[in-house]
Amino acid sequence: MATIFSRIIAGEIPCYKVAEDDKFFAFLDINPLVKGHTLVVPKQEVDYIFNLSDEDLAAMHVFAKKIAKAIQKAFPCQKVGEAVIGLEVPHAHIHLIPIQKESDMLFSNPKLRLSDEEFSDIAKAINSFL
Ligand code: AMP
Repeated sequence: MATIFSRIIAGEIPCYKVAEDDKFFAFLDINPLVKGHTLVVPKQEVDYIFNLSDEDLAAMHVFAKKIAKAIQKAFPCQKVGEAVIGLEVPHAHIHLIPIQKESDMLFSNPKLRLSDEEFSDIAKAINSFL
């Protein structure tokens, strides 16, 4: 069965899309730690990120770099932090999180609750800097 992220990529489940190319897809995390929290996923359905080929793992990071630069322009921050957890969704993904301080990266922090309009505006804002 396809993962939830494959179904998002296929357009079967809605998302707030930020960008895509032939191999990768970026969309907003639905339970964001901060505004701009974005997920980067390979279109190839692989559970564990370190099971990607060297080439695909490198290309995923090159794609994530473009998204991170756009996030930083849309949401000025100290840095965009990168995290890989992958315990919830068995489809490799990188979390990109604009941070002002270390504790902004804590996944145990309460998640933001945003409206549909806020999510749409955030995705558009990031996309506008790509
Ligand atoms: P983890 O696998 O632990 O890295 O966590 C998966 C992440 O995917 C969590 O931060 C979820 O909020 C996020 N997530 C799960 N389902 C969706 C969805 N349908 N749209 C956007 N983000 C999602």
